[in-house]
Amino acid sequence: MPKKMIHDKVTGERRCRCFKRCGGCQLDEPYADQIERKQQKADGMLSKFAPVKKIIPMDSPYNYRCKVQTVYGLDRSKRIISGIYQSSSRKLVAVDDCMLEDVHASPITYTMKKLMKDMRMTPYDIRTGQGLIRHTLIRTSQTTGQVMLVVVTASAILPSKNNFVKAMLKAHPEITTIVQNICPDGMPLTLGERSNILYGRGYIEDELCGCRFRISPASFYQVNPVQTEKLYACALRAADIKDGTKVIDAYCGTGTIGIICAKNGAEVTGVELNKHACRDAVTNARLNGLDNIRFVNDDAGRFMQEMAESGGSCDVLIMDPPRAGASREFIECAVKLAPEKIVYVSCKIETLERDMKLFRQKGYRASYIQPVDMFPHTVGIETVVQLSK
Ligand code: SAH
Repeated sequence: MPKKMIHDKVTGERRCRCFKRCGGCQLDEPYADQIERKQQKADGMLSKFAPVKKIIPMDSPYNYRCKVQTVYGLDRSKRIISGIYQSSSRKLVAVDDCMLEDVHASPITYTMKKLMKDMRMTPYDIRTGQGLIRHTLIRTSQTTGQVMLVVVTASAILPSKNNFVKAMLKAHPEITTIVQNICPDGMPLTLGERSNILYGRGYIEDELCGCRFRISPASFYQVNPVQTEKLYACALRAADIKDGTKVIDAYCGTGTIGIICAKNGAEVTGVELNKHACRDAVTNARLNGLDNIRFVNDDAGRFMQEMAESGGSCDVLIMDPPRAGASREFIECAVKLAPEKIVYVSCKIETLERDMKLFRQKGYRASYIQPVDMFPHTVGIETVVQLSK
């Protein structure tokens, strides 16, 4: 079973025994110091645009990750271990009691190792290309209690599949769906194109801001639901939605922000590149009884260009790009649509700063900057910015 936690001698806060080896966390200091550090960084990088509000911290900054990916391997004595790849190398670091993961994950991982041993399912070795189990993905919803286990295998054959499912469910009746994903090659932690549902519906549902969302294995979904509610509330406030406000939700994932806007009366178009996420978004609109939102499965930059060329417009542009930020093409076309407000939800402050400079050159000024701590114990800073003409 997982080893006991260690605690900080001064503050009594939890500390991780794998901190230096694992690399999943980058900050090992008391939480109050982490918040101070992030505030200083946000002030340093963004206060030239507008005053930066106080970062919204997490009340209890542990066990927040509702998406947990775990890799399996063998130790020197050929025992099955589980953990993550060190960020700097492809070395597997055994991690048994990660304090960031949702509490459901580690007992399931423990059972996974036991069943792998009993059923002779070998861990996949990225150096030799031998073995079956590449990794597992566990997604949980703290609001609906649903739990999804995705077993990612290097080949399609999963021996004693039925016995595996039976034994897993016996140990973990809380699991509501089990999916096998087949990923013959590709980078560590990626999912393959093919999936078999072994048990349940093949997805979970979560509730956020009074809306219900379906999440498939491959869809992006914010990993910290507690802070996501606060983040979306800030985004909604910055968007200032009224009945009939025309909104574009760019990089919309499973449609979350756009759906919340549509529920508040906006006419929304969501755009998303990942086809699984886009399919979830369409389902999610239906799940929430909305017909004032549509989704386009496309590159956001290309979509904006087409909108600009056809003389399209919108009142509010919401954009939540991945860490790389938006493309230049996206920003140049976005300003041609002349939205009254742009709400930029950013997960990387460096690219946010870069993109805000470009927006400033194009005549948009920041009027609201709100950092939110979505990723305690890491250096990541999430920020909501409102830009207006
Ligand atoms: N707003 C959503 C998702 C944000 S994450 C939420 O809060 O859950 C960023 C999303 O952008 C991901 O779903 C990713 O698949 C998508 N994405 C990445 N590159 C893209 C591109 N070039 N065009 C459109 N969507 C893209």
